[in-house]
Amino acid sequence: MRLMKHVVIIGNGIAGITAARHIRKGSDYRITVISGESDHFYSRTALMYLYMGQMEYHHLKPYEDWFWPKNRIELVKDWVEKVEVEQQQLILRNGEPIPYDELIIAAGSRWRRGGWPGEGAKSVHGLYGLQDLEAIEASTAGIEKAVVVGGGLIGVELAEMLHSRGIPVSLLVREKGYWASVLPPEEATLVGEHLKKHHIDLRFNTSLEEVQQDAAGRVQAIVTGDGEKIACQFLGITIGVEPNIAFLQGSGIETDKGVLVDEYFRTSVRGVYAIGDCVQYRKPPPGRKPVEQVWYTGREHGLLAAKNICGKPAAYKPGPWFNSAKFFDVEYQVYGDVPARLPEGWDWFYWQHPRKDQALRLVWEQESGKFRGVNLLGIRYRQEVCEQWIISGTKIEEVVTQLHQANFDPEFHNKYEEEIKTAFTEQTGRTVHGRKKRWWVFG
Ligand SMILES: Cc1cc2nc3c(=O)[nH]c(=O)nc-3n(C[C@H](O)[C@H](O)[C@H](O)COP(=O)(O)OP(=O)(O)OC[C@H]3O[C@@H](n4cnc5c(N)ncnc54)[C@H](O)[C@@H]3O)c2cc1C
Repeated sequence: MRLMKHVVIIGNGIAGITAARHIRKGSDYRITVISGESDHFYSRTALMYLYMGQMEYHHLKPYEDWFWPKNRIELVKDWVEKVEVEQQQLILRNGEPIPYDELIIAAGSRWRRGGWPGEGAKSVHGLYGLQDLEAIEASTAGIEKAVVVGGGLIGVELAEMLHSRGIPVSLLVREKGYWASVLPPEEATLVGEHLKKHHIDLRFNTSLEEVQQDAAGRVQAIVTGDGEKIACQFLGITIGVEPNIAFLQGSGIETDKGVLVDEYFRTSVRGVYAIGDCVQYRKPPPGRKPVEQVWYTGREHGLLAAKNICGKPAAYKPGPWFNSAKFFDVEYQVYGDVPARLPEGWDWFYWQHPRKDQALRLVWEQESGKFRGVNLLGIRYRQEVCEQWIISGTKIEEVVTQLHQANFDPEFHNKYEEEIKTAFTEQTGRTVHGRKKRWWVFG
């Protein structure tokens, strides 16, 4: 009698758990999920709210604890130290080796270190997982001053966390604007000003040079590239994340920056898949980067890996790019292609509220007028509407005419689509029609 196929998943994040859930929906296979970080899947994106006291850990668990036994998904809390592909087994830090028939590597990312002198001091931390949060909690109790290095999304989250506890924060950004590699200059300025309004000491063109320690090995100051010394008792490093693949060294599974996969998430070793933050596409889909470290792509990878394992192969063909974040009180959304600098042959239009921290940028192809993407700050647009405009190559004039259809800010929020239309016509000379009449039929 043939035993049931055993699928083992390393990592209980969004990618691994989505795969596990969909394998269960599509098969009767035995499923084991291993993670060293936590017993259960939790929403990593909401980590900051634990520190800020706005949520408790159990609020971050999307599934009740009974969900796993009920769905016959075995959970193992341990670290995988080695993958032996010949023997088809995993070597764990504490437990017995686990054999597999098919393996999914969904090991996520880890925070990147900068290699600065003194960086190994106690009270120097990045922010990625629960263990980091515990370390940050312990290192920031009763401190007077913190420095965060790195101007990206997690840097702002960490600054907001520290600020919520009344700890003054200096945020060091090497570039001349906030997240300047991603945001066009006007958006970068708006976010930078917003951070300053929240009393974050934001320093552009400022690099970290050295971390100074006290006799106990704790941070006592940092020194910037200009030689300025900033006294502080905590240093947060938020200069990006990298695929978490060190434990795969010597396994024979081909890696570069991440685990190399094809469009079916197959690695170089038969029966071994990789998904989520830890992967690098051999051939990135059009318009995408080789490594994508966001929640939504991890979920999509998990779904497709499950289909492939359940014998219904489906290649990764992602729709338009989407990302969202929050900079203190300002929500950010991007749909499609909105580069930091305008490519040749493209055009863009930027609108900003004269007093509030709200802005919108539309991007299109100059000649064809095809809509390519939108940046939103402090305004929320519907994903399905924006995606449809992008996929169907809607002309920019039509998009501006229909903008109100995308807005899903609550009813009591002011809406600015009429001002935006007027400014668009004035700036671009393109003709925009009035709002299309709609007839509602109740019945
Ligand atoms: C603070 C923070 C805020 C974020 N906010 C957003 C956001 O607003 N929007 C967004 O799109 N993305 C956001 N992200 C990124 C998003 O959380 C990740 O893209 C996503 O969680 C990656 O999912 P994953 O399943 O690939 O990996 P992970 O969630 O990292 O899960 C992998 C798991 O595998 C475990 N693991 C790794 N190696 C081993 C091993 N050898 N043995 C056992 N277990 C192992 C890890 O400990 C981890 O628990 C944020 C990330 C952070 C850190």
